Parts: sequence; structure tokens; C-alpha cells
Amino acid sequence: MSTVRHHVVIGSGVAGNQAAETLRQQDPASRVTMITTSRLPFFNRYDLPRVFRGERDWRNFIIYPADYYRKNRIALRRATKVVAVDSANRTLSLEHKETIAYDTMLVASGAGAYLPEELSEFRPLMHGFGGFKDAIRVADALPEGGHAILLGGDTIGLDLARTLLDTGHRVTLVAGPHTFWPHEVAPEARPGFIAALERMGIAVIEAANRGGIAGIAQGAQGLSPRSLTFRDGSELHGDVVMPFFGITPSLDFMLGSGADIERGLLVNPELRTTNEAIWAAGDVCQIWTASARRYTFYHGWKNVRAMGELAARNIVGAGEAWVPIQDESLILTPDGRVHSPFWEYQ
Ligand SMILES: Cc1cc2nc3c(=O)[nH]c(=O)nc-3n(C[C@H](O)[C@H](O)[C@H](O)COP(=O)(O)OP(=O)(O)OC[C@H]3O[C@@H](n4cnc5c(N)ncnc54)[C@H](O)[C@@H]3O)c2cc1C
Repeated sequence: MSTVRHHVVIGSGVAGNQAAETLRQQDPASRVTMITTSRLPFFNRYDLPRVFRGERDWRNFIIYPADYYRKNRIALRRATKVVAVDSANRTLSLEHKETIAYDTMLVASGAGAYLPEELSEFRPLMHGFGGFKDAIRVADALPEGGHAILLGGDTIGLDLARTLLDTGHRVTLVAGPHTFWPHEVAPEARPGFIAALERMGIAVIEAANRGGIAGIAQGAQGLSPRSLTFRDGSELHGDVVMPFFGITPSLDFMLGSGADIERGLLVNPELRTTNEAIWAAGDVCQIWTASARRYTFYHGWKNVRAMGELAARNIVGAGEAWVPIQDESLILTPDGRVHSPFWEYQ
């Protein structure tokens, strides 16, 4: 019987790539397979706002050289979806009916954009911003000096807003409970942060002051491409409407796997799920935080990368506990602007 362990990593984002690299270093004799629905090997989504600065070549968003995976003996399975996990037999099933056996599995499947139920019927009229193609589509739809309406906010949307303003576009933010997600802003601090966004050049409308969003429509020919109607009857016109309401973990394939799930995959401080052969890292997992007596999501590039590395070290036996490495507080800078530590990545 072979003693070479097969480590399978699901997901090729920051967490998955860091984990695969660490597994390769710490367990040189092992097989490492990375499975991802993504068509691009590993691109830098933090840099996607650059498409509004004219950067349209996907190769310039790719992080590793083409031969990286071959040189590091990481079998990369792109455009491949995991649909189920059978933890009793330590196998996983791919959408095209292939079954893969693993000794250890790391789930780093990240999260997708969350869209509140009441807005889901308007999805075709909105522009997402999750991947390279989304970014190109919205850049194509937004003319020079055009008007982008951002719903919700969140730190990804606010980061994009900074670039849009810098590139000569107008931005209106329809604010609500998700505006500073994932930061927790106390109610008494919120007006100060909203005022700071306005100082940065963002026009802010509190959705609640207009009774909430009633609907989105496509403008007739000659009118603005999109109109947003509020429940008080007022309207807002723009070129694109983009939802930014935070994220929701991508873990459908883990239902029935035996690993416990709350909103994310639940892991202990060593990032192991309730199944002994399955670990998780990144946006998909909630980590047990003893001091708060609850499972917590940790966000930000630096935290996500550290989670990938820690999970891999623990898979090979390190037995170390998670310590967040990034401060999660939203900052008001001395010149009165909003700054999120999640906008710092390197
Ligand atoms: C446009 C954009 C900009 C962002 N900007 C910032 C920023 O400036 N600062 C910041 O801190 N955060 C930012 N974020 C959030 C940040 O991207 C995430 O926190 C981080 O990428 C999470 O990494 P991850 O490895 O956990 O998951 P992801 O990067 O989401 O990767 C998940 C991977 O899992 C794969 N996958 C999912 N389901 C399956 C399946 N069933 N089978 C196989 N593969 C699967 C996906 O294809 C993908 O490769 C941004 C996010 C977006 C969308």
C-alpha cells in the first residue's frame, strides 16, 4: 500500500494557493491536487478595479507564472466543480461524475456575493463584480464620466468606488446595514463615516430614509440605462447598478459530508472541521473563538492567506491555533477619509 498522502485542496483563491504551496513545502513526498471552478489559474481579484484604469489583459492579473504548478508538482484541475463529499469513504465527486480519493481535504471554496432576497428578481439588471469577466462587462457598460449606483456598499464596493471616482466617474451609494461590511460600526459612529464617504466624493442616499428600494428598471432608449425606484416614489438614474451586500460562503457541496455548518464551515482553532480528515480556510469557514464563545468569520487578504498556511501546517501535524493577524477596525484618517485595513494587501 502506498504511504504517499494525497492532499486535496478545493479552491484556488488566496487560501487554497497558500495552502497548496505550504503542503508542498512541508510534505514534499505527498501528492497535492487543487480543484477549482475557476478558468483562470490564480488571479488577483483585489486588483480588479484596475480594469477602469484601462488594464484589460487577463494575463496581467495572474499571480504565478504559467509553469508554477507543474514545477511545484501541484495538480491543478481548472474549470472543475466539486459537487459532493463522501467523508466515510474519503472521496469527492466532481460535476462530470469523476470520483477522487483523498487522505486529507482542505476546503477553501471562498464565498460568493450575497444578494438580499427582495432584490434577486432584479439580478439581470445589475452588474456583479466577482471575477475578471464581470469587471470587463461593467467597465464596458460604464461610459467615460458615467454614473455608477452602488447598492449596499461593503468594503469591496467602497474600494471600487474610490477607483471609479479617481477615474472620473460619478458614484452614488445607496447605503444600508451592509455599507461598512464586514466592519462593525457602532450606530453613533455611523454618521461620521457616512460624512467621510461624502467628503471622498461619493453621493450617499440612506435607503431607509426613502422607505427602501422598490425596484430596478431598464431605461427606455435615450434615457439612462438603469433607474432605481424607492418606496417613497423617488427615482435615481444611472448607467450601472452594482450590488455590494457582503458575501455568503460557497459550500453547497459540503452538505451531507458530515462536517458541521452554521453559516460557514465550522472549524476548531486548528482549522479542522468536525470531520478529522477535513480542514477549511478562508472566507468559507467560521473559526471557534473561545473568548467570544462563538464561531467567527475572519476576512481580509492577510488573514485569509494566514489561514491557508496554518491549515496546511496543521494537516501535516503542527497542531497550532489560529491567531488573527489583521486588525479589523475601520479607520477615519486624519484628513477625514474612510480607510479599511482590507484595502491593504501584498
Ligand atoms: C472584486 C473583489 C474585490 C475584493 N477586494 C478585496 C480587498 O480589496 N480586500 C479584501 O480584504 N478582500 C477583498 N475581497 C474579498 C477577497 O477576495 C476574499 O476575502 C478572498 O479572496 C477570499 O479568499 P478565499 O481563498 O477564501 O476564496 P476565493 O478567493 O473566493 O476562492 C474560492 C475558490 O474556490 C473555488 N470554488 C468554489 N466552489 C467550488 C466548487 N464547488 N468546486 C471547486 N472549486 C470551487 C472558486 O473557483 C475559487 O477558486 C474582494 C473580493 C472581490 C470579489
